[in-house]
Amino acid sequence: MTSDGLRLALATTNAGKVSELAELLSDRWPSISVLPRPSGMHEVIEDAADFRGNAVKKAVAVRDFSAIPALADDSGLVVDALAGAPGVHSARFSGAAATDEQNIQKLLADLAGTPPAGRSARFECVIALVDEVGGIAGGDGLLVARGTVEGTIAEEPRGLGGFGYDPVFVPDDGDGRTFAEMTRDEKNRISHRGRALADLMRQIG
Ligand code: IMP
Repeated sequence: MTSDGLRLALATTNAGKVSELAELLSDRWPSISVLPRPSGMHEVIEDAADFRGNAVKKAVAVRDFSAIPALADDSGLVVDALAGAPGVHSARFSGAAATDEQNIQKLLADLAGTPPAGRSARFECVIALVDEVGGIAGGDGLLVARGTVEGTIAEEPRGLGGFGYDPVFVPDDGDGRTFAEMTRDEKNRISHRGRALADLMRQIG
C-alpha cells in the first residue's frame, strides 16, 4: 500500500498520546497526514467493559463524523494485586477529574505493603482502525491490534518523562528504569502502544 494521500483521523485528545502516535505512524508512513479529532465532535463516552470495546466505539464515532478512516486506541494499566484495576478506569482511577499525580498516589496507596514480587502489572493497548470495506483496514473495514508490556509497579515515582503512570512503571524488558526515566524512543520500542501499532502494521501488510 502507498501512503500517498493517506489521511487518518485520530480519536484522542490526550496530548501525550497524539504526539506518540503521530511519531510512530510517520516512522512507517512518512507522508501520512494524521489529523486530530475533528473539532466540534462530541465527546465519546468510554463505557465499554474492555479496551477493545472502547477503541472500536471511539474509532467508529470519529469515522462517522469525519468520513475518513479513523484510528482510536484505548489503553490502561492492569495490576495483578488489584484484580486488574485500574484497567479501563486508568484515566480516572482516583476520581472523574483526576490528575496523573493523584492516580499514581492512589495506586501506591492501594499497593502499600505489597512486596516487589507482588507488584506485577502490565500496560495494555488496543488500536482499532475503522475504514470502508476494501479500504486500508481491508476486509470488513475493521482492524483490531493489540500490544502489551509487562512490568512492576515501583515503590515511588521516578523520572519526569512520559505521562500517566510512567513514573511508577518499570518494564521487564528494560534496565530497571521507569518509563518516565527513558527517552521517548526507548519507551516507544517496548511500549504497549508501540507493540500494538507494530501489530497493526503487520496486519495491514
Ligand atoms: P485512555 O485515554 O482511555 O486510553 O486512557 C488511558 C489511561 O491509561 C491514561 O490516561 C493513563 O492514565 C494510562 N496510560 C495509558 N497508556 C499509558 C502510558 O504509556 N504511560 C502511562 N500511562 C498510560
